[in-house]
Amino acid sequence: MHILLLEDSPVVSKMLSAQLIKMGHKVDAVENGQQGFHRATSSHYHLVITDLAMPQWDGFKFMEAMLVISPQCPIVAISSSLDEQTIRQRLARFANVIGFLPKPVKTAHLQEIIERVKAYSTENVRKLARIVCTVGPASQSPEVLGQMILAGMDIARLNFSHGTYEEHEKRLKMIREAEEKWSRPVAILMDLCGPKIRTGQMRDGKADLVAGNRIMIQAEPIEGTAERFSTIAPEILADLRVGDPVLLDDGLLELVVEEAGSSKVACRIVVGGTLKSSKGINLPATPLSLPSVTDKDKRDLAWGLEHSIDFAALSFVRSANDIIEVKELISAGKRNLKVVAKIEKPEAVENIDEIIKVSDAIMIARGDMGVELPASRVPWVQREIIKRCWLANVPVITATQMLDSMTTNHRPTRAEVTDVSVAVREGTDAVMLSGETAVGVDPVNVVRTMASIISEEESHAEPSSDHCELMKSQQGFNPALAAAASLGNAAAVMVIDFKGEIYRHLSKWNRSVPTLLVTDSVHVARHSCIYKNINPIIIKEKLSRDQVVLRAKEKAVAKGFVSGGDVLAVLEGERLTQGGIPQLGAFQIIQVEQGT
Ligand code: PEP
Repeated sequence: MHILLLEDSPVVSKMLSAQLIKMGHKVDAVENGQQGFHRATSSHYHLVITDLAMPQWDGFKFMEAMLVISPQCPIVAISSSLDEQTIRQRLARFANVIGFLPKPVKTAHLQEIIERVKAYSTENVRKLARIVCTVGPASQSPEVLGQMILAGMDIARLNFSHGTYEEHEKRLKMIREAEEKWSRPVAILMDLCGPKIRTGQMRDGKADLVAGNRIMIQAEPIEGTAERFSTIAPEILADLRVGDPVLLDDGLLELVVEEAGSSKVACRIVVGGTLKSSKGINLPATPLSLPSVTDKDKRDLAWGLEHSIDFAALSFVRSANDIIEVKELISAGKRNLKVVAKIEKPEAVENIDEIIKVSDAIMIARGDMGVELPASRVPWVQREIIKRCWLANVPVITATQMLDSMTTNHRPTRAEVTDVSVAVREGTDAVMLSGETAVGVDPVNVVRTMASIISEEESHAEPSSDHCELMKSQQGFNPALAAAASLGNAAAVMVIDFKGEIYRHLSKWNRSVPTLLVTDSVHVARHSCIYKNINPIIIKEKLSRDQVVLRAKEKAVAKGFVSGGDVLAVLEGERLTQGGIPQLGAFQIIQVEQGT
């Protein structure tokens, strides 16, 4: 068996390793604590043996985290504490702990426990691509959110199509609480609904629309029936032309306009079905005069600027100007929110290059896109947008229905697994979960499943320098980054980039080693959560440059990114050095001391 031994006493570690090797097992021995946790969750082990006393960490927290990330991996706890009974009682809470051995560990006891461990399989959770999770009733507790962070959530999404400010504020506080508990930066994305058009209220909540019948859409608010209904955006009526399709409830029902008018529009029902209150209306062929940034979006954005939000996504973007308008509203506020353009309208697909140029990130919103465009075009549009974002070095999120069946089931369909894999292979930077984590049966299991699919797909990727070559030719590319690309044997690349100016150039390189972003700002760290393979290390103290490198190296060891003997490439961009030299870039190779 392949066994991970986590023990900070070198003497005990040596003795136990020798016993296990003698029994015929392969042993990796490292210090316990965060370093051990990283090792335990980034490789496949049949068994983890860990001391409960952990320098700067807590053995029970370790069990809790392992239960979330690798629940199938059995753990044997060892301890020199005299209070054996209390320990056994506390360990009984953890289904992954299969045994407890007081120190000094007796070979016979060890052998007996190991005999019980069959060939369990653990899942490797080291992943480069990011996971965005929508927070909703199923995930709104600090415990569940903490487990989602451990399982691989990088960005929490608050959907402003639903909920009150009080509800969003409550969720935001819980996310920050969970982030603090697990010391892992998490970004929060507010999803602004944009000019989302909906039906009004229906009498008794619903009506059956029969194909072939006529139905009226009217400006005046009424309780809808099978003959007439209203909309929350009566301005659209004047835009509708004879022959325009009107799609209701994600395209499940379809009407066609027969008589235009600004107070009422007559339609023929093409595809019937049950129409419920407040269902989406999509008008794929109608040029709309509605503003892209609505009054509600402006109010929501103002709220976001007063709260700890990192990204604002705008729905139903049509042109680059929509994003510029949001950016102007943000620049007048207190905080630096990054803007995500949601691509779902045919106009946005046509204007994609201009939109990518002005956006901080792109979201391929496949739900509404599949209604606004023929659904058969969505895979091709997805691939094309991912490719263009790769060329422009802009992060892209692939969203909607990725593991949809897991909203009600505990396992995904094979088609869903393939969908996530394909998006990762195409080069998406992030994948998104919507109802799966907002209202699903087991949000933590969904995130864990998604992380395992990403990690499996990435394990087959060939490292490539294509993106680096592309970046080198672009304006603003720092030459120090190019130097790192040519260094073959570094265990990690560390970018000292306090303001977050250059690290993003490293994200899409498809590197096989981790990139560590050293910053003093939690905001920079949170913004990095949308970039692949960027691992923030926050150093808040005012230190000299050399001290920063030393402290960051210590943290990189503690987090398990590097260990004794590893070579580390350290990069820096422009700055004025202490001696007054205007530095353009710096590149340094250091080695982690043996025994650390
Ligand atoms: C989508 O339509 O795919 C999407 C992400 O937007 P929403 O969830 O707001 O409908």
